[in-house]
Amino acid sequence: MHRNFLTIPACAFTAILVLLICGTSYPAEALKIGDWEAVCRAPNALTGEVQEVEEDQIARHPFPPWFGRTRRNDDGTWLIEFNVLAMNVYKVSDDMKKFIFYHECAHARLNDGSERVADCDGLAQMRNEKLLDEELLGDITHTYLLISRSFPTGGPCDQYAPPLEAAVR
Ligand SMILES: [Zn+2]
Repeated sequence: MHRNFLTIPACAFTAILVLLICGTSYPAEALKIGDWEAVCRAPNALTGEVQEVEEDQIARHPFPPWFGRTRRNDDGTWLIEFNVLAMNVYKVSDDMKKFIFYHECAHARLNDGSERVADCDGLAQMRNEKLLDEELLGDITHTYLLISRSFPTGGPCDQYAPPLEAAVR
């Protein structure tokens, strides 16, 4: 009797926790931050036709930490998933979220799984959009450190994009 009384709330709590951590799926929606919204367009990996990339927001366990990932579908289209739970746990800033968008979009646009290429192209895109400054560079470096990554991943960007100093406006 006593045991049942305790078990039911424990199960309910566990179920809610599991749902929160593992199962929460948002309707497909792009990353929108205030008035800022961007659309990623990338060549279809099979046909080369430039198409809008589907985005989704999901809440996955933040360990091991990842904020976004880009998948190539069997038909050559792309899907970007944003892990909003991890972004919340690590208190990712709005500008950092924009960088994550450009980083993931680079994986699709360039059909390249390299983290270094995605970091450097993400920076270059933000520079083009006049969204890059010293504060954001510090923010990205800090957030990467929290998840034990150096920035840019794998070394400086000069092979792929102008050096960081030149990239900052
Ligand atoms: Zn990446």
